[in-house]
Amino acid sequence: MKVYPIPMVPGPVQVPKRILEAYLTQYGSPDLESDYRDLYLQTQTKMQQLMGTKNQIAFMTGEGMISLWGSLKSTIKPGDRVLTLGTGVFGYGIGDLARSIGAEVETVGFEYDETLHDWERIEAAIINFKPKMITVVHCETPSGSLNPMERLGELKKKHNVPLLYADMVASIGGVEVRTDDWQVDLALGGSQKALSLPCDISFVAVSSRAWEVIREVKYPGYDALLPFDQILDKDDFPYTPHWHGMAAMYTSLNLIQEEGFQAVYQRHEKLAENTRRVLLEIGYKLFLKPSAISSPTVTAVNVPSSTDWQTFDNRLRAEGLVVGGSYGPLAGKVFRIGHMGAQSNQELLDKALKILRKIYQQL
Ligand code: PLP
Repeated sequence: MKVYPIPMVPGPVQVPKRILEAYLTQYGSPDLESDYRDLYLQTQTKMQQLMGTKNQIAFMTGEGMISLWGSLKSTIKPGDRVLTLGTGVFGYGIGDLARSIGAEVETVGFEYDETLHDWERIEAAIINFKPKMITVVHCETPSGSLNPMERLGELKKKHNVPLLYADMVASIGGVEVRTDDWQVDLALGGSQKALSLPCDISFVAVSSRAWEVIREVKYPGYDALLPFDQILDKDDFPYTPHWHGMAAMYTSLNLIQEEGFQAVYQRHEKLAENTRRVLLEIGYKLFLKPSAISSPTVTAVNVPSSTDWQTFDNRLRAEGLVVGGSYGPLAGKVFRIGHMGAQSNQELLDKALKILRKIYQQL
């Protein structure tokens, strides 16, 4: 197995020592002890602050996709109308997930190098299609883009759409998220991005409107949200709770709180801007159109035309640097630098950029 001293993959990211220590600690029996319940409550309180919400949060054991699937299946029945906003792999992919469970899906689509705009088209689709749910991705990791959420929330409210589902897996912890202000009913997060944990916890902040729908749909699967309804009053977790993971999540939130929310966002913004500036100065071409909004957590860059992705990746790895490739139509064309969470670090980025400069000049 190969290891790389300069990890820049946009998830799973490097895990800081203090978080690792939470995994190495021995705990009790989580479904029998009130200590676990207290940890859940305290973690939820901190996460609510980070996500700008008063909504109850379901912490599920599993990687990001468990909340993407579980939130759809818990709220959508065959024939329900879902309006998907597509600006990349995950945005379009969520439409496919909804279709696979029998929803009638309409897509307002954009190019992968764009972020949401053309609000007239989006509003017209809401008016004509009358969806039960709108789906959106805040940070499209494969494109390195960040969709504006405020205006979407206003439209959702204006047209009384019951549910707004937002994938915030790659933004929470690196970018300000205002779940309640943006009218998000299902705000989805993952542990392996800006929270700097392994990929073992996914979480959803669920609005009271969404809980009503969840109780009505009664989806019974392993990834269901229903068992988490008022979980702290019931004290009955649906499966063996992941005490180590929740302790690690609590530690991650403490680290963010100790630095300060705004300081964390400014660090991400500053280092992302600096990364993009240096890449351009070297000669790389950024993937996004200039009119699109770049995410402070990840940058997508075109693979230089003088090489191919495999050769380029091998050359970087030989220097100890690992970046992310991309997916779907971007596979082989785009590489990504994940400057999120513990990897939003000046020293690490300087090392990565030095290697990226060297390899570019050699090609
Ligand atoms: N949503 C976005 C925007 C992602 O980038 C990812 C993973 O890269 C996911 C969802 C799925 O998360 P996971 O890979 O942990 O299942």
